Amino acid sequence: MSGTQLIDQYGRKLDYLRLSVTDRCNFRCYYCMPEKGINFAPRTELLSFQEMYDLAAIFVQLGIKKIRITGGEPFVRNGIIPFLYRLSALSKPEEITITSNGTLSAKHQSALKEMGIRKINISLDSLDPVRFFSITRRDCFQQVYKGIFDLLQNGFEVKLNCVVAENKNVEDIMPFVKLTKDYPLSVRFLEEMPFNGSAESNERMMWDHQRIYDHIRLHEAAIIPLIDPVNSTSVNYRVNGYQGTFGIIPSFSRTFCGTCNRVRLSATGELRTCLYGPPVANLRDLIRNGADVIDIKEAIQQALSYRARDGFEAEKLSGSNIHTSMSSLGG
Ligand code: SAM
Ligand code: SF4
Repeated sequence: MSGTQLIDQYGRKLDYLRLSVTDRCNFRCYYCMPEKGINFAPRTELLSFQEMYDLAAIFVQLGIKKIRITGGEPFVRNGIIPFLYRLSALSKPEEITITSNGTLSAKHQSALKEMGIRKINISLDSLDPVRFFSITRRDCFQQVYKGIFDLLQNGFEVKLNCVVAENKNVEDIMPFVKLTKDYPLSVRFLEEMPFNGSAESNERMMWDHQRIYDHIRLHEAAIIPLIDPVNSTSVNYRVNGYQGTFGIIPSFSRTFCGTCNRVRLSATGELRTCLYGPPVANLRDLIRNGADVIDIKEAIQQALSYRARDGFEAEKLSGSNIHTSMSSLGG
């Protein structure tokens, strides 16, 4: 383990931090949160922006090259824009990206542009307003859809994330692929994971990466495989002649663990070295108990020395926590 790099015991370099700025959200996507009865963390347990900034600075010193802001819904946290201005001065802006449900992102695009943030992932699971409502439990399709094209028009690099599930949005797969004909969008189809914040499992997960691919291939013959970056979690394709691309993320099948370069910091300071695993440290508690930068660096490096080999090994350590909502894991 070097002082300026985070390398786990299997030799994987970790240079990508997913920083969750809140566990709250203005949506209630069925695969992420129950409709009611969610135990949001008390506000005092959330990292303050100063704590997040200090921790981000430590991660950057430890070799983190890319920070993705996520949540919950990042834009619902008051003060997020001033925080992003500070963070973008700390880390090179092209290395800061955001994942959002798209309700508020377009509203903030001038500020994002000004700070140099150019890449944004929007979750959109359906192109049909009725199905959109049944998935998110919110009537916001037009707002999100319009926002995506506003972002594109303003020069943002936009990726759409679409969780595919039986009886939810299978009809949307091909319309999403078709959307990439005239727009330089990257649509990524995700397998559903068990992180829905309830004891209900996703045994209904009937659409794995192979089935999604076969479905697309059946309807569209002219698919060209692309060369993906080594740490990519998506396997990407372009339909011949289309402007955009589509990708498939085996988020439940976990075929990409061997090259995983991610660490996650939840809004309450929990550090995870695998989405499927338990927290390996709580950095908020360390800070609040007076730990200095050296102590925190050591805690992070120590946590990496027992990083699970893959998501299956990590899952065994998680026990019943496997159903924690993605919004509190920092998705
Ligand atoms: N609220 C933002 C959003 O929806 O984009 C950011 C946080 S959300 C937790 C991050 C990503 O996790 C979204 O793309 C969402 O679709 C995905 N996600 C949440 N729960 C999931 C699950 N159970 N299975 C697969 N993907 C999930
Ligand atoms: Fe909110 Fe994102 Fe979870 Fe949907 S997936 S409920 S938008 S945090």
